[in-house]
Amino acid sequence: MNHDQLGQAALEILNTVFGYPEFRLNQQEIVTTVARGNDALVLMPTGGGKSLCYQIPALLRKGTAVVVSPLIALMQDQVAVLQANGVRAEFLNSSLSGEQAKRIEDELYSGQIDLLYVAPERLLQPRMLGLLENIDVALFAIDEAHCVSRWGHDFRPEYMQLSVLHERFPAIPRVALTATADERTRQEIISHLALEAAEQFINSFDRPNIQYHISDKKNGKQRLIDFIKHQHAEDSGIVYCLSRKRVESFTEALRDQGFNAYAYHAGMSSELRKRNQEKFLNEEGVIMVATIAFGMGIDKPNVRFVAHMDLPKSIEAYYQQTGRAGRDGLPSTAWMIYGLQDVIQLNQWIQQGDAPENVKRIETEKLNALLGLCETIECRRHRLLEYFGEQPHSEKCGNCDNCLIPPVTWDATEAARKALSCIHKTGNRFGTGYVVDVLCGTENERVIKNRHNDLSVFGIGNDLSKVAWGAIIRQLVTSRLVQVDVENYNVLRLTEKCRPLLQGAVEFHLRELPKKTQPQKRKAKAQFVQPQDEELYELLKAERMSLASEYGVPPYIIFGDKTLMAMAEHRPLSDEDMLAVSGVGQFKLDKYGMNFLELIEEYCAAHG
Ligand code: ADP
Ligand code: ZN
Repeated sequence: MNHDQLGQAALEILNTVFGYPEFRLNQQEIVTTVARGNDALVLMPTGGGKSLCYQIPALLRKGTAVVVSPLIALMQDQVAVLQANGVRAEFLNSSLSGEQAKRIEDELYSGQIDLLYVAPERLLQPRMLGLLENIDVALFAIDEAHCVSRWGHDFRPEYMQLSVLHERFPAIPRVALTATADERTRQEIISHLALEAAEQFINSFDRPNIQYHISDKKNGKQRLIDFIKHQHAEDSGIVYCLSRKRVESFTEALRDQGFNAYAYHAGMSSELRKRNQEKFLNEEGVIMVATIAFGMGIDKPNVRFVAHMDLPKSIEAYYQQTGRAGRDGLPSTAWMIYGLQDVIQLNQWIQQGDAPENVKRIETEKLNALLGLCETIECRRHRLLEYFGEQPHSEKCGNCDNCLIPPVTWDATEAARKALSCIHKTGNRFGTGYVVDVLCGTENERVIKNRHNDLSVFGIGNDLSKVAWGAIIRQLVTSRLVQVDVENYNVLRLTEKCRPLLQGAVEFHLRELPKKTQPQKRKAKAQFVQPQDEELYELLKAERMSLASEYGVPPYIIFGDKTLMAMAEHRPLSDEDMLAVSGVGQFKLDKYGMNFLELIEEYCAAHG
């Protein structure tokens, strides 16, 4: 086949098997590159559509495509999606019985499997490699390829050994895929997987459908409740916290408000965790309150919000966790609150960890970068993309809090100087609470004992509240004019960087201190469905739910939200119309089409 014919054949599979009208981003180029037998490195954000980049070549090429995937949950989900579209896909992992594995091996030998998902450790077994040498392998896809990175948060040692594929199967194309953006990881993937000759397909890491919100931690619990109530009342979402205790407490608070919230953390029994995770995957409108232990391998496409009640460790972690929202491309929210306590806590963990000094320094730097993102008065998306080495086209994205409601700034030069001189005059020996007490003129026991009520700075800050001083000091820390000594009771100390400010050479502008703001009212549910289609949409969802329980699969395996929305809007009445709906392929039409067509017909008849 020449290039055009290959492109045409790829499009046909996209239409008939997956039911999508057109390729996204550079999917088509990637598909034809791999289908022609070349290696490829694919960087695409979450939800960009990486899977099709190897699934379609798998169907275009002779033999079985072998997909390396790090997690059982991910494999099962992908295989379920493929099988629901009538593709012959299977996985081999430790969850199978010996008998089941044997059946799959037999099918491999007789060429009945188009895609085989395996865990890296399984693939690397001599027996498995031997088996593959005796069958036609169409291609190797290495999913979540950033797992080779020792620096990354998902490091998997077995991934490092995958270069064996290149050595033992030099003629078979390999495609490595990841949603992790930074340059160092990219280089590690290339060198560890011997992909020097691969074509690189690098997309922007922007997730335009995610709206970013970052604000102060005050009244966190109530703010979380308001946020969900006003913006995501009936949606699925994830709430991340740092400790088990906080997971329990927020779960309870949300349940008290009538939300369908479940906890997930390492202190729970594995059965209970599994049960809660299944609820999240299989039911609608479930909120998972979790420590970061939850999420890797969660492919649920219609997570509408990710809320962080505590700061993650880095921009990478923030991007990855918020990236679990909106995989289906529909509007979603990444909402985070943070405070100085978080910074102190995370710094403490870094310092107390076993990592060597240089790693600790990197970790501290990464945390500082995240703080910079929190405190910025500029476009969040811009900052985020810049961090990943992209040059965003415009200064403002129009879909983050700072763009939507430009933060009010104030000239905090005077206040900052007061705080700095208070830290200095009390001898660089006290933490935030104490320094604020002195600034505000609070005569407590310690202050009196230290005779700090006699200092000139005592009470010079009583024009501002203690909360306000807390925020100012936090921003001084973020701007690194002040450092927190985590090895020494979190004592505040001036740094060299504060000199120009103390000498009056520079000004210090800050985000206006948080006022009580009314949350922006959005329509509470399914705001992207037209009002006239809402009733039908709900009926379609109910039908999907009942089919999902009948077939024992999560609802989104049947049809995604976007597909149901399109049905509610276009109201297909024939097989042909139904096939024109994005997300409906021939196999799903045959399997579920009738149920939905009948429902739509009935609805249209009743509503004229
Ligand atoms: P990733 O692995 O990059 O996070 P997926 O491969 O899971 O993303 O794709 C995300 C969603 O987008 C899936 O529901 C997938 O079916 C859908 N999708 C992928 N490519 C297309 C396309 N060309 N048109 C419409 N939907 C697509
Ligand atoms: Zn913006």
